[in-house]
Amino acid sequence: MVAIDLHSHSSASDGSCSPEELVSEAAAAGVRVLALTDHDTVTGIPAALSSAEPLGLRLIPGVELSVTWEGRSLHVVGLGIDPTSPSLNEGLTRLGAARDERAAAMVDRLARGGAPIAGVLDRRRGLTRTHLAKALVDAGHSRDLRQAFQRWLARGRPGYVAGRWAGLGEAVGWIRAAGGTAVLAHPLRYGLSGSWMRRLLVAFRDFGGEGLEVASGQGGPTEVATAAGHARRYGLLASAGSDFHGPDQPWLQLGRLPPLPGDLKTVWEARGWAA
Ligand code: AMP
Ligand code: MN
Ligand code: MN
Ligand code: MN
Repeated sequence: MVAIDLHSHSSASDGSCSPEELVSEAAAAGVRVLALTDHDTVTGIPAALSSAEPLGLRLIPGVELSVTWEGRSLHVVGLGIDPTSPSLNEGLTRLGAARDERAAAMVDRLARGGAPIAGVLDRRRGLTRTHLAKALVDAGHSRDLRQAFQRWLARGRPGYVAGRWAGLGEAVGWIRAAGGTAVLAHPLRYGLSGSWMRRLLVAFRDFGGEGLEVASGQGGPTEVATAAGHARRYGLLASAGSDFHGPDQPWLQLGRLPPLPGDLKTVWEARGWAA
């Protein structure tokens, strides 16, 4: 267990805990510094901030932006943002519209493929694939989330539609305009070869990206060592975040992260957030 967790989700996006529940779960797990980083939205931040204060937990306002780069989908986490920033909010409005358009296209494809989940679009805006996966389970088309992704929603499966997300430079720009530090999330989850990883990290840094998520809830010591090598090579600050989505995804736990190598400079040291 570590005291710092800089990547988590609430029900403002695809997490299953409300912002208040997330904060109290984090405090109970011994987390002292928590970033709320919902997908393409900052609507959970005010509630998270006000419930964190009496618990003595430091809540870092954050966001996880969806990016399309060279035909791939990537995630850039913004940490220590001002959630009221006008340029960030213009970007979030655009991403929200892209989410709504893509969710409608996916629901259409699912219906044509024999898995209708009518009604899910009326329930809320900004749907993610996690919401569609839950609807597939509720409608009896899949046994669980894992199977819903494997059968329908993963890239290349019949219900998948690529989102028209932000450009990499745009996303980094919105985060910086909001006073935040841009961190490339879970870098080993994109299936990039060495040369593509180099292209991505050089482009990210040239746009003003400063951090790399070196420790993530899913990887172990091997993944940390690989990502740490990238952080050193490209001069990026190290970040660490579980990517917690709720107790229903027990393989990701708040604050449960492999340790970072001691020589790396961390985002929390650079920003003065150390617990
Ligand atoms: P989206 O941004 O709408 O494409 O949704 C991406 C989200 O889906 C991720 O942030 C994860 O929370 C979730 N997700 C993606 N792949 C899987 C999977 N194989 N199993 C469970 N959740 C997944
Ligand atoms: Mn998610
Ligand atoms: Mn992500
Ligand atoms: Mn995430």
